[in-house]
Amino acid sequence: MMSSDPVQIVRQQQLLFKAGKTRNISFRKRQLRTLRELLEQHEEEIYEALRADMQKPPLETYGTEIGLILMEIDHILSNIESWARARKVGGALINFPSSNYIYPEPYGVALVIGAWNYPVHLSIYPALASIAAGNCNIIKPSERAPNSSSLISSIINNHFDPGFLFAVEGDAETVQQLLKQPLDYIFFTGSNRVGRIIMEAAAAQLTPVTLELGGKSPAIVDDTANLEMAAKRIIWGKCMNAGQTCVAPDYLYVQSTVKKPLLKYMKRYIEEFYGPDLRQSEDYPRIINRQAFDRLTGLLESGRIVVGGDTDEADLYMEPTVLDEVTWKDPVMQEEIFGPILPVLEFTDLQEVVESVSSKPKPLALYLFSSDRDNQQKIISEVPFGGGCINDTLGHLGNPRLPFGGIGHSGMGNYHGKTGFETFSHKKSIMKKPNWPDIPLRYPPYEGKLKWIKRLIS
Ligand code: NAD
Repeated sequence: MMSSDPVQIVRQQQLLFKAGKTRNISFRKRQLRTLRELLEQHEEEIYEALRADMQKPPLETYGTEIGLILMEIDHILSNIESWARARKVGGALINFPSSNYIYPEPYGVALVIGAWNYPVHLSIYPALASIAAGNCNIIKPSERAPNSSSLISSIINNHFDPGFLFAVEGDAETVQQLLKQPLDYIFFTGSNRVGRIIMEAAAAQLTPVTLELGGKSPAIVDDTANLEMAAKRIIWGKCMNAGQTCVAPDYLYVQSTVKKPLLKYMKRYIEEFYGPDLRQSEDYPRIINRQAFDRLTGLLESGRIVVGGDTDEADLYMEPTVLDEVTWKDPVMQEEIFGPILPVLEFTDLQEVVESVSSKPKPLALYLFSSDRDNQQKIISEVPFGGGCINDTLGHLGNPRLPFGGIGHSGMGNYHGKTGFETFSHKKSIMKKPNWPDIPLRYPPYEGKLKWIKRLIS
């Protein structure tokens, strides 16, 4: 087994890359198939690791981690030949005659840094696109989900050539060491704060980066919405992983006239999903660690608790909690919540929503519950955000045909499906020109040629 010395890892990957091994599409497909088989073989261990890290129920682990990865692998395997092919494009008149091509090219050695909340997904999913594009890959899973991190590392490091794919366990210090190496691509998932640190380090070597960050993603409900369905789907999206989801609905923004019945349905669905004694439910995860638990408990001071509010420090348990009478100025509205707390804000006119959400950092996701097509279109076209759903939560993430990523404070760059392949590929543009004819217009002396050049270029 290779040591975790970053200098040695990167050097070994550079050598393998330069030898051209990853240029071969069959090689890339073989690696993806191996990864697929390994995830299936280790399914039970993955469930156990995520149970140990945050009591994640197996259904959520399959649905949001293993299953999504397998689906992406299958999608890549069915499309990789066409994505990786050089594409012929039309020529420009000014270059006539010529033939023109775009060659997707791997960058070289890519570093994928993961967050803890979906520890398997966030370390492996981005690497799939990178493998498909022909890069060598170093994966750094989050140390805050230690069981998952060690399982990912052992699965990967026991089965892959470390010159091609290697997992490094460690914390911020490990990432800092890796960032000093001559990397060719950095793909980071995590907080806004660390995103800035990563981008600064990348800037020092002009390494391209993708940043998948977080933010406050609203769930907006207007008076035309199916309130029962809205409540059910918002609670589902909020309670999944106990709210520790980058695209979880962070806060509810509801039209005043429908607030009361909506909150009633929400309370009902929490009980329906998790039973009368929520703490005993096998389906409800825990907060990742004490520090996160303390931060979340502090946020319960905002507004007035109308649903939930129960906590147990010893078990890192926090009941799904709805906070009414919250204002934009409350602490709970100043940061990404990243836990099972749902503050409620009200509006009377949808224009208020457009203005207030647009005046804040651009959210990673936005969910609108409305049956009014004009309202739907208004939000889609007038509010900037990464991506989202109409009349649902989280679902846009599960379609490999939809690019996933943030905008502004919620991130830069996209992945999933073909977009992921393109993210990890440099587009090398080539114009091929015959030696004959050689049209003399572009060569000096220029006298009398300007009017012809204008015709060709305009
Ligand atoms: P984090 O930023 O604390 O950590 C992410 C990674 O960065 C970890 O692997 C960690 O080891 C590393 N890291 C931490 N400090 C560092 C430093 N000083 N220098 C270099 N590396 C450092 O994030 P987290 O707590 O693991 O995850 C929560 C955040 O991630 C939330 O904001 C959430 O919204 C966001 N997130 C975004 C997505 C997305 O796809 N957009 C997905 C999941 C989570």
